Amino acid sequence: MPKKAKQNTLITAIVLSIITIILILTQKQGLMKACVTRVVDGDTIKVEANGKTYTVRLIGVNTPETNHPTKGVEPYGPEAKEFTTKQLTEKTVWLELDVEEKDKYNRLLAYVWLEKPVNFSEEEIRKKMFNAILLLEGYAQVMTVPPNVKYADYFVKFQREAFEKQKGLWGLSMYNENTKSDFVVYISKDGKKYHLKSCRYVNSKYFPVNIEEARQKGYTSCGICKPDEAYEEWKSK
Ligand SMILES: [Zn+2]
Repeated sequence: MPKKAKQNTLITAIVLSIITIILILTQKQGLMKACVTRVVDGDTIKVEANGKTYTVRLIGVNTPETNHPTKGVEPYGPEAKEFTTKQLTEKTVWLELDVEEKDKYNRLLAYVWLEKPVNFSEEEIRKKMFNAILLLEGYAQVMTVPPNVKYADYFVKFQREAFEKQKGLWGLSMYNENTKSDFVVYISKDGKKYHLKSCRYVNSKYFPVNIEEARQKGYTSCGICKPDEAYEEWKSK
């Protein structure tokens, strides 16, 4: 084979490999079409997809319990379950996964889209992603479990909006008490300190949590950005 032809073959091979890799990557980020067969709880559903049945736990949110072995029925649990049942039963949805596909109970972890998203903008998230809708309507609280934190910033924002409007469960005094410290700090899975968002240490691996939650988990205040000082000032307002 002449040198030129050899070179062309090589270039073609490289281009084809790159296209294949891109296709594999985009497919991995693709959405899985599913049909909701049953609602287990406000944040847990059963779906059928690709001829298989899955239990799906919605990522990033937690609705009050309706049949927990130790907690029993929590206030607003039945309302959340009814809302999810009305909105999702027998609907076609698109499931978006994050870093981990399943949890320790073998449940699929997913963002549930009511309509296929086009550009994943905040506007679309608000209108079409059911996880976000649960938060915006006050049926759920944020529950950030790393590494599945793709939309964690939005979720904290949506919860704050629902809280400020006293929507859903936020109208009940027991939940209001918990959120007196609606002050958000940033932590990483491997770190020991919590930070303000503006801190030079904070990057895309950091995710937002309530400051009291960070303290409960054993994190301490960063000496550079000093979130404790900011929190004291925020509380005194
Ligand atoms: Zn810091």
